[in-house]
Amino acid sequence: MEAMTSSGAELLLLHNAFIVTMDPQSRVFRDGAIVVNGDKITAIGQSSDILRQFSPFSHQIIDLHGQYVLPGFINTHVHTSQQLARGIADDVDLMTWLHHRIWPYESNMTEEDSYISTLLCGIELIHSGVTCFAEAGGQHVSGMARAVELLGLRACLTQSIMDSGKGLPEYWGNRTTDDCIQTQKKLHEKHHNTADGRIRIWLGIRQIMNSSDRLLTETRDMAKELKTGIHMHVAEIPYENQFVVDTREVEHGTVTYLEKMELLQSNLLAAHSVWVNETEVGFLSRAGVKVSHCPAAAMRMLGFAPIKEMLDAGICVSLGTDGAPSNNRMSIVDEMYLASLINKGREVYAKGTTDPTALPAETVLKMATLNGAKSVLWDNEIGSLEIGKKADIVIVNPFSWPMVPVHDSISSLVYCMRSENIISVMCNGRWIMKDQKILSVDEGEVISRAKLASTQLLKKAGIQIPSRMNVL
Ligand SMILES: [Zn+2]
Repeated sequence: MEAMTSSGAELLLLHNAFIVTMDPQSRVFRDGAIVVNGDKITAIGQSSDILRQFSPFSHQIIDLHGQYVLPGFINTHVHTSQQLARGIADDVDLMTWLHHRIWPYESNMTEEDSYISTLLCGIELIHSGVTCFAEAGGQHVSGMARAVELLGLRACLTQSIMDSGKGLPEYWGNRTTDDCIQTQKKLHEKHHNTADGRIRIWLGIRQIMNSSDRLLTETRDMAKELKTGIHMHVAEIPYENQFVVDTREVEHGTVTYLEKMELLQSNLLAAHSVWVNETEVGFLSRAGVKVSHCPAAAMRMLGFAPIKEMLDAGICVSLGTDGAPSNNRMSIVDEMYLASLINKGREVYAKGTTDPTALPAETVLKMATLNGAKSVLWDNEIGSLEIGKKADIVIVNPFSWPMVPVHDSISSLVYCMRSENIISVMCNGRWIMKDQKILSVDEGEVISRAKLASTQLLKKAGIQIPSRMNVL
């Protein structure tokens, strides 16, 4: 007879696994087992104990033959709408990137483009073990929500919000503060807590140079009223800080100004935060602001963020990929590797030599899991494998060429693992990828639709990519 729980859900038991829980005791089970009941984890421990206790009641028992089980990774800064723009702005300066490639591209998108772009992006996220992400802001939240619901992912979705600033495309430049606020309120009413609770709606502020003071304060107040988060690009380039000093009469850039405006709160997710001084690190720490560190995008366009200093100051720093035109790879696995290397190398500035002990593997794993969950204000349910938490799970095969031989499992997950090692992914108790096959959509079909949509969109936006080298 098939065992059922009192709630009617079927029990799934995974055993003979190397389980990295990321729980408060940092427990790792060499031969562990985990039981999933509906959308939640109902037991976790040594395989022998769990098998004895739960196998008679389990509907399905899977022997993982020593594969690794981890909490689903959390990507805290991604632009799903930009996936169709991968490769449209490589090796160009920042102003060309923004004014001649990204703005024309994004402002010409339809909701259907956003849907396809999010599907394509989501496929790549899942292949790298991501179960939850924070959208940095695109135009068509409804298109994103449709794709997230279908893919089975968990997400905090945000509209891209700008109510001022020079050089914006016509539609964006004409948006009033009231329009920005009201649109987000409606999106929150429509989509918040939908898709079995997997979708949450956050408020967006694209960046300070495109925000009026009223937009900042009303966003702050509405986030409080709706009990949700704010996602904002913060202190990305020195020009931004100079702009704030020149126009808003503060001593140092964006973070100092946000402190003055009382925007620095624990529900603020500050993306990048590269150009912050020591005092500002103190502001962020005291306010409990979360920082999304995007190593690849930072190296490409922004510079070295003081991540070690932030972590030392107790700031919750998580990891993000940023969008495809800023990084090209939407792999949080690659970002883990880069986060560790870049921040070891950056110590040259502080100590005159690299510091191989900076950002060790366990810290980086925490950034991609528990800190990610805290950053998206969801750590009561995700970010670690614990009884009662949601079953967001990644299964890693460490027995193929990128990882063999494994002498130190935790370091191997950060320094060796590639997306190719991610075998299966579960979100909210449901497999969304199994044996590297995405279950809810046909990958080939999404790729064909994405190619077509991207070509048409670039044509519509009048974007031309000059050819390189001697292409015949
Ligand atoms: Zn961004």
